[in-house]
Amino acid sequence: MLSYYCPECKFPLFEAENKVFCPNCEREVKIEKKEEKIVEKEVKEELKISEKVSSLDNKLESAISKVCDLILSAKSAEEVKALSESLDRLVGILEKVKKH
Ligand SMILES: [Zn+2]
Repeated sequence: MLSYYCPECKFPLFEAENKVFCPNCEREVKIEKKEEKIVEKEVKEELKISEKVSSLDNKLESAISKVCDLILSAKSAEEVKALSESLDRLVGILEKVKKH
């Protein structure tokens, strides 16, 4: 006995010779539940990835705003230059992350 039920009569399905059939309807039943589960898993994993990306996004954005603050409070032109370079890099990374 399988853990699936006939879509027509809700009778528990049986498997024999690689075929799934409903003893009540006396016919073969095509189940696609296994594939559905895989798709569900893939969707969940995609969501996880996008969650990670968005938190990376947030981190980069807060890093960028920190660098901006540092530029504002920089005391020398060299400091401003160095900070602008890191700002440039951070913005570049953020753009790459957002494109994904
Ligand atoms: Zn049935």
